[in-house]
This record gives sequence, C-alpha cells and structure tokens, in this order.
Amino acid sequence: MPSIFARIINGEIPCYKIAEDDRYFAFLDINPLAEGHTLVIPREETDYIFDLNDKLLAGMMVFAKKVALAIDKTMPCKRVGMAVLGLEVPHAHIHLIPINELGDIDFMKPKLKFTPEEFKATAAKIRAAL
Ligand code: AMP
Repeated sequence: MPSIFARIINGEIPCYKIAEDDRYFAFLDINPLAEGHTLVIPREETDYIFDLNDKLLAGMMVFAKKVALAIDKTMPCKRVGMAVLGLEVPHAHIHLIPINELGDIDFMKPKLKFTPEEFKATAAKIRAAL
C-alpha cells in the first residue's frame, strides 16, 4: 500500500506544492511548527532516510538546499532549520522549518493552524522565490 506521501506525489491526495523534479518533491507540512514548514521527499518510496542510496540521499540534500533558500528569502526567520524524524510517515522526508530560536523546532509543541487560503499564499510566496 503506497504511503500517504506517495499518494501526494501521485496527485491522489492534495498538497500545497513547493517544488518537484524527476527525483524529489516538496510541499508544506499540514501541521506546521512555523509558517513555511516544508517537507522534502524522494519520489522513490523508502521508509528510512538512511536506507536511501548515497546518490539519492546526496541529491535530496541539494534539492532541500534550493527549497530552504527560498523559504529563507520569504519567511521572517534567522535561518531555516532541518530535522529528520520519520516516526509518523514511513516515507523518507526532511523537515525544513524557519526558526529564530531553539524552541521553534520543538516537535512536542502544539502545531499551528492555517486556513487553506493561508497555506496557498505561503506556498505561492516560497515558489516565487525559487
Ligand atoms: P514524522 O514522520 O514524524 O517526521 O512526521 C510526519 C510529518 O508529516 C508531520 O509533521 C505531519 O504533519 C506531516 N504530514 C502528515 N500527513 C501530511 C499531509 N497529508 N500533508 C502534509 N503534511 C503531512
């Protein structure tokens, strides 16, 4: 059974898309820690990020860098933090999160709520900076 992220890539489940190429895909996290919280995933469905082959993992970092720089330009933050957890969704992903202080990347914190219009506007801003 395909993961929820594979279904997003296939267009079966909607998302607020940020970027894609032939190997990777990026979209807004639906339960964000900050405005602009983005997930970067490989199209290949692998659960554990460190099971990706070296080339795919290295390329994922380069793809994430492009997305992170666009988030950095458009979201008010000191920098973009990066985290890998994978405890919830078994499809490798990198979290990119705009941060100003250590507590901004605490996954135990309550998540923010945005309307679909707000998510769309955030995604459009980041996409425009790519
Ligand atoms: P984790 O696997 O622990 O790294 O967490 C998975 C992340 O995926 C969480 O931050 C969720 O909010 C996010 N997530 C789960 N389903 C969706 C979805 N349909 N669209 C966007 N983000 C999602």
